[in-house]
Amino acid sequence: MKLSDPEKSVNRFRPPPRFIWPAGQHCAAMLCFDVDGETTALSEDAALARRRTLMSQCEYGPRIGVPRLLGLLAHLELPATFFVPGYIAEHHPRMVEAIVAAGHEIGLHGYLHEKLTTLNEAEEEAILLRSLEILTRLTGSRPVGFRAPWFEINPWTPALLAKHNFAYCASEMGDDVPYFHDNGLVEIPGQWLLEDWEQFAFNADPAWGFVPENCEKVFDLWWREFAAMHDYGCCFVLTLHPWLIGRPSRAQLLEDLVGAMCERGGVWFARGREIADYFKKTPEARREMDFDSLKTSSVAKP
Ligand SMILES: [Zn+2]
Repeated sequence: MKLSDPEKSVNRFRPPPRFIWPAGQHCAAMLCFDVDGETTALSEDAALARRRTLMSQCEYGPRIGVPRLLGLLAHLELPATFFVPGYIAEHHPRMVEAIVAAGHEIGLHGYLHEKLTTLNEAEEEAILLRSLEILTRLTGSRPVGFRAPWFEINPWTPALLAKHNFAYCASEMGDDVPYFHDNGLVEIPGQWLLEDWEQFAFNADPAWGFVPENCEKVFDLWWREFAAMHDYGCCFVLTLHPWLIGRPSRAQLLEDLVGAMCERGGVWFARGREIADYFKKTPEARREMDFDSLKTSSVAKP
């Protein structure tokens, strides 16, 4: 695996960091696991429940992927954020307990992994409250983070999240560091580039994904983005699905990637709620770039 060589790039473009991270760290890293499980199929069509091979592939995530990944995270001594649909939490309550017992954060991810764009505001709020009740009951504390199923929110979603006291949303893709929505809700943006679905998902019928990629290529893809985000002071948000990244070779890919990130040093591995807390307490940490959103004249050049 070829890593970019920091020594070769003395003349490389090195802008000032986008964000000032705690304790002098160069960048933040949020490891996210979206435990979609059976809802991957059921949200598409409830009749797929009788398709045993398909459903067993979905169940692999909560049943095999999550325990393996919890073991890996414990081995690496790193925190993570698990976004769990309410339906999955209800059907795998001991998995939820195990995630919480290991010290990881649990955030909301719909009830049945609904496409929010198919819902009106009242429907979306009802699903939010139902999921919130389930996860609060099963985890023993009130979740503060939300990741939209399918990575898509509605215009009113930030208002709903703020109304129900969420600290952050991790669903948009408008930056490479956290930003505030107009109502003060923190957004921790992700990117399709840093998602395992595009790299590894495949199912014959219904047709999902493409030809599963080689781990070496994916390591290179993610490492290069990480290394550059490290240089630029960004927030590396990696979004993973236990039925995909929990496969043996891919768990080792994750171990290799995170191991290389630790070796690079200066990485603040944090749960979503910690990133949101830090940003709320330290809003000046963020360095604006968008010429048309600048509210002051004191911002440096990009
Ligand atoms: Zn999902």
